[in-house]
Amino acid sequence: METNPILEQKCPACGAPMIYNPTLNKLECEFCGTTVDIPAQAIQEEPKPSRKEKDEALNQMEPLPVYNCVSCGAEVLVSQETGALTCPYCRNNIVLTQQFSGTIKPDGIVPFKITPDSLPQAVNDFYKDKPLLSKSFFSDSTMSKITGVYVPFWVFDCDVSGEVTFNGSKTGGSYRRGDYIYTDVKHYSLERNVSMSFADLAVDASKKMDDALMDSVAPFNLKECKPFDVRYLAGYVADRFDQTSKEVQERNDKRVTSTASSLAMSHTTSGFENVSMRQNGLKPIMKQAKYILLPIYVFKIGFEGKDYDFAVNGQTGKVVGTLPRDTRVEAKYFFKYFLIGFLFVAILIFVFFVW
Ligand SMILES: [Zn+2]
Ligand SMILES: [Zn+2]
Repeated sequence: METNPILEQKCPACGAPMIYNPTLNKLECEFCGTTVDIPAQAIQEEPKPSRKEKDEALNQMEPLPVYNCVSCGAEVLVSQETGALTCPYCRNNIVLTQQFSGTIKPDGIVPFKITPDSLPQAVNDFYKDKPLLSKSFFSDSTMSKITGVYVPFWVFDCDVSGEVTFNGSKTGGSYRRGDYIYTDVKHYSLERNVSMSFADLAVDASKKMDDALMDSVAPFNLKECKPFDVRYLAGYVADRFDQTSKEVQERNDKRVTSTASSLAMSHTTSGFENVSMRQNGLKPIMKQAKYILLPIYVFKIGFEGKDYDFAVNGQTGKVVGTLPRDTRVEAKYFFKYFLIGFLFVAILIFVFFVW
């Protein structure tokens, strides 16, 4: 364990806070413009704790003490999973190093790649061509402060294997005998042995992040994953994991087995009718779980007194979020298409029966 529990990211020239600048891939002082390289780390010789050791370390963690900001002396109250933050009093960027060291040190980090100034445009593009959105949304909605968060994720490599069985049928020719029409229908039992490998599946390990939002903000390109370095955290919020790999593995297992079974279904049952699954014997086999911090911008869009959660992938710029539903617009939209459909059917009836 490091002796100093708080690490500051201060400018060597003027002492102002430094932040990680994704465009430069350097630490930059916002006050005087001084930049500092993040040197490539030497290959880590320290032993890498296993996934199990990480899980156990989390379960044994002691409550965080109260910190005093090194710069201004103010008491910094943080939640148990906070690892990096900006001091609310002096704006100094601090990292609580013991949240990211020893057994619970992340196996890697994907640094932010896009900058917050590109977000308003990205969000506007996201709104475009959403016919159900109220017109006043464009003029009246407000965007909250954008926070760049390094969210803890478990990244899994796993295999899926086993046998799946489907029911299917094929309809042959029809023939008439007496008063009856007979149709040949053959029923089949379709079996498939499945063996698939999955890599780099990211499942968030943070209780406070919305799972659906985090699932949709993926995928991340993990080829750009770097050895963990606290300097990437400068100017951002970062949380350590507060869910063990064991706790989130179920979400991963469900996802891979359902992907594998629907792939198996589409490969096995083409040309068959009335397809259904009879038996699903697929089993996921975990190969590896890495603990990685991934870059995500979060903010809220306020509209008519309600807040809507948004997230943007800090590496790819993918925007996800829910949009407010306007029942009046939806009703109009529905009515318009209902009317078109109704007119169409009325014309058809007219043509066939009255003409
Ligand atoms: Zn400076
Ligand atoms: Zn301070």
